[in-house]
Amino acid sequence: MLGASFGSFLSVITNRIINDEKGIILGKSKCPNCNHQLHTIDLFPIFSFFFIKGKCRYCKNKIPLEYPLLEILTALIFLTNYFFLSTPAFDFFVEKNNITRFSFHFIYLNLICLILIAITFVDLKTKEIPNKFLYAWLLTCLFAPFISLQNSLISILLALIVNFIFFGGQWLISKGNWLGSGDVYFGIGIALILGFEKFMVAIFLTYLIASIVSLFLITTKTVTRKDTIPFAPFMSIGTLLSLYFGNYIYMWYLNTNIIFI
Ligand SMILES: [Zn+2]
Repeated sequence: MLGASFGSFLSVITNRIINDEKGIILGKSKCPNCNHQLHTIDLFPIFSFFFIKGKCRYCKNKIPLEYPLLEILTALIFLTNYFFLSTPAFDFFVEKNNITRFSFHFIYLNLICLILIAITFVDLKTKEIPNKFLYAWLLTCLFAPFISLQNSLISILLALIVNFIFFGGQWLISKGNWLGSGDVYFGIGIALILGFEKFMVAIFLTYLIASIVSLFLITTKTVTRKDTIPFAPFMSIGTLLSLYFGNYIYMWYLNTNIIFI
């Protein structure tokens, strides 16, 4: 429920930032089509969409599927965070009976995920990451090394160097054609959260998933080879997968890499 509510809040603030509207947080919600002010019954996360059958109650205009999807996605990620927090192999692991610490880690991890989802969502829609989101992202991620003590400072430093050389280098060489400067800043935060080993796993997963999806989009002629597709969504998926499973994947790779040689 908490995740779904935040997902709903997220679609409000991201759309207001994209459209450069005032009252980012406190303004009243309106139907973007008829401007009718929305009531509680219209604003209940996930359920309202199905209850009002995906249409505005006032002008009958279709409500984009992105609203319930964002709510469901955020709810699922909050739930996953809750589950992983009590898994000892997880970087942000806390004993469940330590309620204060558990709540703190839960809130922190959810905050990270909220900004990550917001960046993904806006990049998908506009192919750009607003500076406001990047500042929030970097500021929040700055605390990660002090909250999860699993990654050594050297490991985090190495991840940052890889980010600057690998993503920064691509940005520099291609003059922003292969990826945007926003992606490089996004990468700094990812490096701070994951540390070197899991950062490498995240890069691997990012490119693997991006290649599969791009090939699919090209073969189905949804995009041509000349189109650009936003990169941050793939970085987000790679980051989340590596955050949850990176330790396992890295260990598995170390134990089996003889096959690859
Ligand atoms: Zn309406």
